[in-house]
Amino acid sequence: LFITLEGGDGAGKSTQAALLETWLRESGSTVTRTREPGGTDLGGEIRTMVLHRRGHIAPRAEALLYAADRAHHVATVVRPALERGEVVLQDRYLDSSVAYQGAGRILDSGEVRRLSLWATEHLLPDLTVLLDLDAVASRSRLDESRTGYDRLESEALDFHTRVRDAFLALAAAEPERFLVVDATRPIDDIATTIRERVGGMLG
Ligand code: C5P
Repeated sequence: LFITLEGGDGAGKSTQAALLETWLRESGSTVTRTREPGGTDLGGEIRTMVLHRRGHIAPRAEALLYAADRAHHVATVVRPALERGEVVLQDRYLDSSVAYQGAGRILDSGEVRRLSLWATEHLLPDLTVLLDLDAVASRSRLDESRTGYDRLESEALDFHTRVRDAFLALAAAEPERFLVVDATRPIDDIATTIRERVGGMLG
């Protein structure tokens, strides 16, 4: 079972991934929890490169770097874990590229998606949880936290609005793959909603 979490910065993806991981383990599943960018050693180097140069990389180069990270991660971590029968719980995946590199950097969304599908040999998640948060709320949450990156400072609010709208459009286009959750709801309520959906998918 391949589950991805998507959403804007500060939407609470890692909090929910941690809660879901604990619940899955307690229910007897073997879980590989991972993330993009940076789920491998190579990916860690790519993560540093793209995040430190954010806003200063040619959009197509940025898309290729994320795709390279994803290709290596899927080939060396995600597919092997799925083949072992594990649940893979992943923070960000190809929908992030369609939203950030496509809508955010104004590249063709279809092309960005096809690049990702080529990179991953067409691996799509069984479930994608979208933690939906508007750009203003996202900014104020990040202002309160110390993330190590000056994330939103270099990106305008309209960039994050385009990203959010793209995530919602992706979810609307594939309602069977997506679970959209209002990220402003209490943490435990969100966790319960996610568990109910995942519980129904466990064999
Ligand atoms: O939330 P996380 O720490 O995984 O993401 C790191 C940063 O990388 C985020 O601020 C996000 O905006 C950016 N990112 C991106 N394109 C992606 C994935 C992440 O711009 N495909």
